[in-house]
Parts: sequence; C-alpha cells; structure tokens
Amino acid sequence: MAQRENTDPQKMEKIVSLCKSKGFIYQSAELYGGLNGCWDYGPLGAELKRNLKEYWWRKNVQERDDILGMDGSILTHQAVLTASGHVGGFSDPMCDCLLSKARLRADQIEPQTGTAYHYTGASHSESGWSVEKPFSVLIDPSANQDENKARKTAKQYYAQFLSDKQIAPKKLELAGETTTEEVDTTQYNPENGSLLTEPREFNLMFQTKMGASSDDNDPNAVAYLRPETAQTIFVQYKNVLDSSRVKLPFGIAQIGKAFRNEINPRNFTFRSREFEQMEIEFFCRPEDGLRLTDEWLEARLSFYEEIGIPRTKLHILDVPDGERAHYSAKTYDIEYEFPFGIQELEGVAYRGAYDLTKHQDHSGKNIEYFDEETKERFIPHVVEPSAGCDRTVLALLCESYEVEDLTKEGGKKDERTVMRFKPCIAPIKAAILPLLKNKPELVAKAKEVQHLLQPFMNVFYDEAAAIGRRYRRQDEIGTPFCIAIDFETLGEEGPNGEDLTDTVTIRHRDSMEQERVAIKDLLPWLLERIR
Ligand code: ATP
Repeated sequence: MAQRENTDPQKMEKIVSLCKSKGFIYQSAELYGGLNGCWDYGPLGAELKRNLKEYWWRKNVQERDDILGMDGSILTHQAVLTASGHVGGFSDPMCDCLLSKARLRADQIEPQTGTAYHYTGASHSESGWSVEKPFSVLIDPSANQDENKARKTAKQYYAQFLSDKQIAPKKLELAGETTTEEVDTTQYNPENGSLLTEPREFNLMFQTKMGASSDDNDPNAVAYLRPETAQTIFVQYKNVLDSSRVKLPFGIAQIGKAFRNEINPRNFTFRSREFEQMEIEFFCRPEDGLRLTDEWLEARLSFYEEIGIPRTKLHILDVPDGERAHYSAKTYDIEYEFPFGIQELEGVAYRGAYDLTKHQDHSGKNIEYFDEETKERFIPHVVEPSAGCDRTVLALLCESYEVEDLTKEGGKKDERTVMRFKPCIAPIKAAILPLLKNKPELVAKAKEVQHLLQPFMNVFYDEAAAIGRRYRRQDEIGTPFCIAIDFETLGEEGPNGEDLTDTVTIRHRDSMEQERVAIKDLLPWLLERIR
C-alpha cells in the first residue's frame, strides 16, 4: 500500500510541463507574473473538463429518476452564508512571521522548546537613529544555537525600520535584552525563530459589493462569491420540491464554481482559490441517512473507476469522531494517490437535518417536507457527495500519464509519452490523418471522414509530418483512435490482393494495434467506444 508521504515530485513537474506545452492548463495571467491560486484551461483542458462534467451529469442526473439538476448563482446573499455558518466561521487561525512576513496556519505550528531572547528596540548611535518595538527570538540551545543567533535575527528584524538602508543590520545596537525559558511554545516561526503575531481568524470567503452605489454600511450591498455550491441547493430545495413534485428520497445536483481565499494555494490545481465542484445533496428520511451514505460511497467509487481512476489508487478515510463537522454522524473522504501524496478528491458526508434546519430558522419560512402517505411533516436529512472537478481532472491527468519504454525494429530503444485517458474522457476522440498531404484524393477523402464525424464528437485533422510522428503527437494528448486514410482507402489492392476501397486503418493508442473498418461503419464503431 502506498505511503501517505510517498511522493514523486519529478513526475509532477513533467505533468505540469506537459499541461502547459500541450494546452491543458496554464497559470492564470501568466503574462503578468501569474495570479496565485488561479488556473486557465487551454483547448485540450477545456475539452477534458467538459467531458468529465458531462459524464458526471449524465450518470447522476440524466440516467437517474431520483436526481434533478440545478444551476445557482455564484453571487450569494449574505443571509444564506450567515445561516450556514460561513460568515463568522469558515476561517483558519493565521499568524504572520514578524521577520519574513510568511503567513502560517496557527494550528499547524509544531510546538518548540528553547530560550527566548526579548528586546525592547534598537538604535544606531552614529546616525542617531532608533526604534522602540518589542521583539523576541527563540533559539534552541540543544541545536548549538546561542545568543549570537538571537542577536543577529533581532538586528535583521529592526533593520526593516531603518530609513537609511545603507546601514548594515550588524551595526545596530539592541536594547533591553532579557531571556525566558519556553516549553512547547507555538509563538515562534520554526523556520527562523522570529516571533509571530497573535493568531487571527482569516475568513476564506471572497466578499464583494453589489450595486452601483454600494454603501459600506448597507448590509444588502454585501454579497459573497459562494465558497461551495451546496448552499444554493439548500436554499432552493423547497422550490425544487414544489415545482417538480418529487418524493423522498431524491437529490439535487449542481456543477459550478466555488471560491475560497486559500492561505496557501499549492500542488498545481489541487488547492486553488477558484475551482469547480460537482455536488449532490441527496434528501432522505432520517432513518435512511446512514445506509445511503454507505451506498453513495460505493456509487462514487464506481464512478471513479468508470472514468479511469482505479480502486487500487483510491483510499477511503472514515473520518473519526472529533474530526468530522459537529453535525455529521458519518463522513468518508475519498482520497487519491497523487504524485504529491494521498489527498482528498471528494467528501461523502451525512449532514443530518443541519442545513435545512438552519435555513428554516434563519429565514423564518417553513421548508418542511410533507409525506402524503404518512401525513408527517419533517425536515429531511441529507447525504452529500461533494467532488472537486479540478481535482478530478488533475487525478485523471496524473493517472493517465505514462512514459513507456519501447523497442523499435532492429532493437533500438525508444520511449513514448502516452496519456491513457478513457475514451469517454479523452479531449479528442479520433484524429483523422491522410497518409500524404500532397495527394488531393487522400486529403479529400480524409476531409469527408472528418465532416462525417464532426457533428458527433471532437475530432482532429492533421496532415503535417510523417504518419508515425503524427501518431505520437496524438498519444501525448491521449487521443484513443487514429484514423489513417491511405491508398487502399482509394481502391488500391490490399497486401493479400483484397479490395479495401472505402475502408480506413484505425490505430489504437494503447496497444498501437491497427485494424480496418469500413467508412460506412465508422460512426457507430466510434460511438460505441467513446461513451
Ligand atoms: P480540503 O480539506 O482539501 O480543504 P475540504 O474538506 O475543505 O477540502 P469540501 O469543503 O468538502 O473540501 O469540498 C468538497 C470538494 O471540493 C473537495 O473534496 C475538493 O475536491 C474540492 N475542493 C475544496 N477546496 C478546494 C480547493 N481549494 N481547490 C480545489 N478543489 C477544492
């Protein structure tokens, strides 16, 4: 079994580089130095992401009788997020390093033991400059650190306030040095010993103003970019119920953007500030909640398998008591073995009646369910499978990427990069390749094939370079089928004297094997394999 910390940074680097060079994913605003935590999907990435979302929608909405879709607004009324607990909650305790200005999650700082050196200020007698500000440094005597390290760090800190930057930090004189012994303190930056600011709650939501004359004091002028798609579903649950006359159990599904001002966006698109979620809120009778949570876990694992992420690479974390949200009786995290470690792809959470009850209380409107058979009125419970679209795209990229060693004819070693996307997910389903570009009959036939397929799937026409090179280019972007139009297509005899007129060669990406298919059978042949 893979280790949680088992990582492969080189592989990740290669994937990031391929994503840029082939047009899957680019850094947002790269031209201007990049917008941290934001990503743009290029031509192939946009197709890949669309295919994933369409597959999810087809499986979870269109092919089920008990789930309805919706598409809610991104701008969210602050009352919605006050009721849900996001306003006033949804924050991480953060502190800043006084020396390097690095921002750290207060609850993630390792406790340290050592001697703290405290100062009241610093001065430079030659120029008459001085500053009065308390500052402290923690040193670890067991690691051979002494007062010199403390003094050097303190001088670097005070040098930030110098108006004359020509004065070297070591020329400063420190004032009021005292020491204390500290045990298991989390008030110092483990990287450099500098004192940290007191932890402050850092809200992860993006707030914005609505209306031309938005006034700071008008609470209705404040809106938020939603931090999850779920709340739109909860606040529209009653409308969907009334307009669709569905009965419990039923779900509402939504795919859409969510925004979180993550402190430390990292691991490519894994932790972004703008991302897309694919969420289902599945409403049920209270007695069915736990059973449905387990059923949803299985359904979601099967989904990942269908799109090409094998069970063996998925880990189920049964989130223990104390680590789950207080209202959740059961939560599973579905994790994937990314090259940067085992990390969450999706959460399947039993949320009880928490969300709907909160919205009923805060809005003052009755949103109970009326069971016509039993004549009961109650707030349904909810099971939430909540997947990250960008994280799943990233998992698909990581899972599909392979550099394969090959032996060419004559024994020469070769390697090919291949993205082994399942055909249902692959950005391009088939490449259409005339054997030669300077033979008008071949080109005309290839264009005919292109026009035949184009209304039904994303195909790509390529006539540049030798056919072998063109196959490799398609392997690198994960096109499952290459269709070659050759002289046999035009009526030349086959190798065994057979008539191959109006047939094409289909080359399979994974096995590199080839077969001949009649053009008239091509469309059903492909449709059967790409859904
Ligand atoms: P994490 O613990 O990784 O921050 P979370 O438990 O806060 O995630 P949820 O609130 O359960 O995440 O959101 C559901 C899903 O949305 C996650 O499983 C993930 O796939 C996706 N997601 C959440 N935050 C981000 C993010 N910053 N960037 C990309 N995807 C995200």
